[in-house]
Amino acid sequence: MNAPQVLQNKLEQMEKALRNTPDQHLDFKAKRDLIERILQLIEEKDVFVLGHNYMEPLVYLLSGEQERGDSLGLAQRAAETDKPIILFDGVRFMAETAKILNPEKKVLIADLEAGCSLAEPFSADVVKEYRERYPGAPVVTYVNSYADIKAESDYCCTSANGYKVVLHAAKEYGVDRVIFFPDSLMGANLQYDLKDEGIEVIYPGKEDDRFAACEVHEKFTAQMMRDIREQYDMPKNAEHTAILAHWECPPEVLEEADFHGSTTQMGKYLEDHPKLQRVYLATECEMAANLAMEYPGIEFVRSCSLFCQHMRKITLEKILYSLENEVYEVDVDPTIAKRALVAINRMLEIK
Ligand code: SF4
Repeated sequence: MNAPQVLQNKLEQMEKALRNTPDQHLDFKAKRDLIERILQLIEEKDVFVLGHNYMEPLVYLLSGEQERGDSLGLAQRAAETDKPIILFDGVRFMAETAKILNPEKKVLIADLEAGCSLAEPFSADVVKEYRERYPGAPVVTYVNSYADIKAESDYCCTSANGYKVVLHAAKEYGVDRVIFFPDSLMGANLQYDLKDEGIEVIYPGKEDDRFAACEVHEKFTAQMMRDIREQYDMPKNAEHTAILAHWECPPEVLEEADFHGSTTQMGKYLEDHPKLQRVYLATECEMAANLAMEYPGIEFVRSCSLFCQHMRKITLEKILYSLENEVYEVDVDPTIAKRALVAINRMLEIK
């Protein structure tokens, strides 16, 4: 198949996938030329494009099916590529992880200011302070953090494997106390889920007045979940309906939900429950738009406008500019990157 044909096929696939999301389908028609130019550059420059689940559908679909997903899946894919340029459609800490795994490659992000409320609040010194306060306890750091914090950690984790990594760290170090950094709400949720294992999880805010949370997920409340159940006829543990919540939501939201997990685990839940007809996702709103393309038979309750302002900084226009000029390159200090890589690899090695 020649290059123009590959491009046309890709455009047709995108158009077809977007038919289930009427707004984006219209956007696609309006931005077809822009998308075509981006796809052309991706082909010409042999770019590996990774797309996080929270990207708007038009950006999300620029990545191949195997290159879309959550932080864990994308970190794994980033470690596998031999392409010279990686374009990371996500926020900066994710692109940093890709750079740490691929120091020789050029890693681009459409907006270097695409941050994260979890990654901003603490410096590496705070991790050192926790180590001193809880001697012997290994530090597991959520991937939503910058490289200097990862460099001070024993393991990284994502929302897909946080439970497993904390458990593994406790066993490996022969201790029953693990420091989890920096998400206070996910730390509390892990503590709840790990209590039967006899593991104490220390996280910012548990025994001090520090706090870090995702500015999107912290806004969900248990009352919102109850209202949605009532308004949309979604009783708990029903066969045809389900509320799925992300790990970064407050503990009382997880208690109200039918299932909690990472974004990829939410997708897997839908796959494993083919009788579902109506679903509410307590997570960033683009996730529902992206899953709607995959599951046309499910009605996704879209009663929120909780979008991540950082993820929304990644637009088609900025992607084009970044690719055309090969600018907005992510850089990580090599000494820090080397130490951070140890924590990332220790996570990737846990099966
Ligand atoms: S959704 Fe939350 S955790 Fe994800 S990038 Fe935005 S602020 Fe950070």
